[in-house]
Amino acid sequence: MPSAQKIIVIGAGIIGASIAWHLQRKGADVTVIAEKIGGVATPNSFAWINASWGNPEFYYRFRHRSMTEWSRLAKELPDLPLRWCGGLCWDLPEAELDAYAAQHYGWGYGLQPVNQAASAMIEPNLAEPPEYALHVAEEGAVEPVAAAEILLKDAGNRGARLLSGIEVGRLLTQDGRITGIETSEGALHADHVVLAAGAGTVALAASAGIDVPLETPPGLIVHSRPAPKLLNGLVMAPGLHMRQTAEGRVIAGSDFGGTDPAGNPEAAANELFDKVKAALKGGSSLALDFHTVGYRPTPKDGLPILGGVDTRPGLYLAVLHSGVTLAPLVGLLAAEEMLDGSSTPQLSAFRLSRFA
Ligand SMILES: Cc1cc2nc3c(=O)[nH]c(=O)nc-3n(C[C@H](O)[C@H](O)[C@H](O)COP(=O)(O)OP(=O)(O)OC[C@H]3O[C@@H](n4cnc5c(N)ncnc54)[C@H](O)[C@@H]3O)c2cc1C
Repeated sequence: MPSAQKIIVIGAGIIGASIAWHLQRKGADVTVIAEKIGGVATPNSFAWINASWGNPEFYYRFRHRSMTEWSRLAKELPDLPLRWCGGLCWDLPEAELDAYAAQHYGWGYGLQPVNQAASAMIEPNLAEPPEYALHVAEEGAVEPVAAAEILLKDAGNRGARLLSGIEVGRLLTQDGRITGIETSEGALHADHVVLAAGAGTVALAASAGIDVPLETPPGLIVHSRPAPKLLNGLVMAPGLHMRQTAEGRVIAGSDFGGTDPAGNPEAAANELFDKVKAALKGGSSLALDFHTVGYRPTPKDGLPILGGVDTRPGLYLAVLHSGVTLAPLVGLLAAEEMLDGSSTPQLSAFRLSRFA
């Protein structure tokens, strides 16, 4: 029997965790190495799982398939804090909402137009239920750090090694091939190195002469103290996206991706939280616990960067926004490509080479 392929995964956010888990399940010899278990962007995410408006059809289909892949993962890992709680959306002008509904309904997205009475039934604690909204029962959310930890723990139980609190300084190259990494604790070698380091991907790729065009826009999210149930699902109101976490915290951004709090995050957080309180019946009893400003690892054209790099065999890149939505599918396909030596047509639109 051939020996298992040795693979180093740099990064233990939701993407590194999913790739490591899928690789381990397929029989690889996996080492995950990261400064922070649970990730950097991942703990600051709104974590809405969706294939909502604003994307071309091929990317809609990729996202929609990943929603199904979350259900597959949840069957294998029943403790995953995943809820198909549905999303109520009216954050577009009516004509754009109609166009989104017509297009996505045609593509098979499970959305339903709802009037004010139906909105109030779906979310009885909205102070002002919308007169017209779209409800997508098949959307959901996951608690992303807990999900990453569960994936890593299960991969560890199956033999993966997890090295945390360690900084990777650079990629090691021999004759053009990536052969390993240099860390604060010494060098490690492998057949493949997966770069799932979120915003840290740029510097590590540059150490091997690879340019990864990434932007990292900031996003403010406010978190209430845990509270009795006020929201059933996701609410995408104009200027205010909210959900209630498994712990009972109402979390919100002025957009699911958060917006730039500019010079004064504290003031922006207080202002946003006042909006949350006003939007909910019973909201006045909510207390702001903390806010986060996350940096979203977003490739310059908004689409994921996934796959090998022609000029640097041995390296696999996985850097993307909507990483929470896409983690299960990215993990599945990345593991297939690396271990089967295949090239998946579903990933062809996401290669780094598109920027050349
Ligand atoms: C405010 C906000 C809202 C969002 N909302 C959503 C949403 O609603 N839905 C959705 O699908 N997505 C959303 N996203 C995007 C999603 O959260 C990210 O795409 C995802 O978390 C990225 O995960 P990751 O594992 O790639 O990166 P990260 O979570 O950033 O993890 C990077 C990992 O790499 C490690 N690392 C980096 N550099 C090094 C180094 N040199 N040495 C060692 N380790 C290193 C870090 O320690 C960490 O473990 C949101 C993001 C933000 C910030």
